[in-house]
Amino acid sequence: MKILVINAGSSSLKYQLIDMDNQNVIAKGNCERIGVDGLITHKFADRSLQYEVPFPTHKEAFMEVVKALTSGEGKVIGDVSEISAVGHRVLHGSEVYKVSTLITEKVIDDIESFSELGPLHNPPQAAAMRACRTVFGPDTPMVAVFDTSFHQTMPEKAYMYGIPYEYYEKYHIRKYGFHGTSHRYVSQHYLEMRGLKPEGTKLVVCHLGNGSSITAVKDGKCMDTSMGFTPLDGILMGTRSGAVDPSVVLYLENKENLSADQMNDILNKKSGFLGVSELSSDARDLVNASHEGNKLAKLACDMVRYEIKKFIGAYAAAMGGLDAVLFTGGIGENSGELRAEVCEELEFMGIQLDEKENDYNTGSDHKISVPGQKVEVWVIPTNEELAIALDTKAIIEG
Ligand code: ADP
Repeated sequence: MKILVINAGSSSLKYQLIDMDNQNVIAKGNCERIGVDGLITHKFADRSLQYEVPFPTHKEAFMEVVKALTSGEGKVIGDVSEISAVGHRVLHGSEVYKVSTLITEKVIDDIESFSELGPLHNPPQAAAMRACRTVFGPDTPMVAVFDTSFHQTMPEKAYMYGIPYEYYEKYHIRKYGFHGTSHRYVSQHYLEMRGLKPEGTKLVVCHLGNGSSITAVKDGKCMDTSMGFTPLDGILMGTRSGAVDPSVVLYLENKENLSADQMNDILNKKSGFLGVSELSSDARDLVNASHEGNKLAKLACDMVRYEIKKFIGAYAAAMGGLDAVLFTGGIGENSGELRAEVCEELEFMGIQLDEKENDYNTGSDHKISVPGQKVEVWVIPTNEELAIALDTKAIIEG
């Protein structure tokens, strides 16, 4: 069985065609600069093709994906009928979608109606679903997998904000959490690999990439997470500030005479690693620069590591214990230095890293804590596309 996974962003459309019999990726790629001009990168076997095609909307990009998969040099299948189903990543499912769902017209309309909650992602994702329906016809099932759904098990005390309750009722303002597909995949994968039943387990998953979030997973379910109403909350990220005192926003707007849009731009695109270091949003650049003595790069590295450490402590307290800390995402999987600093002086909690194992990046599941410690620490590479494909398969097979 072959499943196509689609991940539409504001100006991009990423895809992966996965053979579910062996979980191998047959082809993958990215359509970029949608709405500007258009560029597709199509990877298959050991090869990669890149060429320009105009993409006025996500529909043209989707058509090009189908063309790349079924014709020309990069052809990997005879025609689209070989694709059994399509799994779509969706940013926001509001409070309505608590699990992955078979896509109907109503589901697409709902996803579009949550646009105020996910303005950059939900509209193109709905557009990609409609384009997909046009190309594949009504008989190919499509499944929506929501970034927010894993977090829907949070208790009210974790997801409500301390603002007047009427705003929750009027505007659905609450913590939603994101990267749910990754947090679910990594936590379930760990439990399966260790042969553990979810009941009674207490895990902290640190998904650290350009966007980062940390989740407390108790009994296999999300109990709390660091991102909030939007993916801006939580820890310092590539260009996002993470949590700041809300008064800072009001104060700055006043002092610098900024509009809400300008402030939004500063918090989302000019803050985080980039804003603090005045150098780069890329964690690798910061690590290198801090080794060369750049003070602001070091400050950004110190800040994010301190914040992650605090979340681990807070979530252990919230769950009443801790069995494992799982690192994933580009930074979590590759930066031994960050992992070492985060776990430093946590011996009192039963966390102690094995220096040699921590320095050894395998690109696969890898235990990095000293054997026999109360808390296991693992690096577990995330695979959101596979998680989406597995959900899609499970749903179409009933
Ligand atoms: P996204 O959130 O866009 O999916 P990724 O999960 O791919 O991002 O993570 C990208 C981040 O991972 C970048 O900041 C990059 O610098 C960082 N990264 C990758 N390799 C390393 C490394 N060896 N050391 C530190 N950071 C790394």
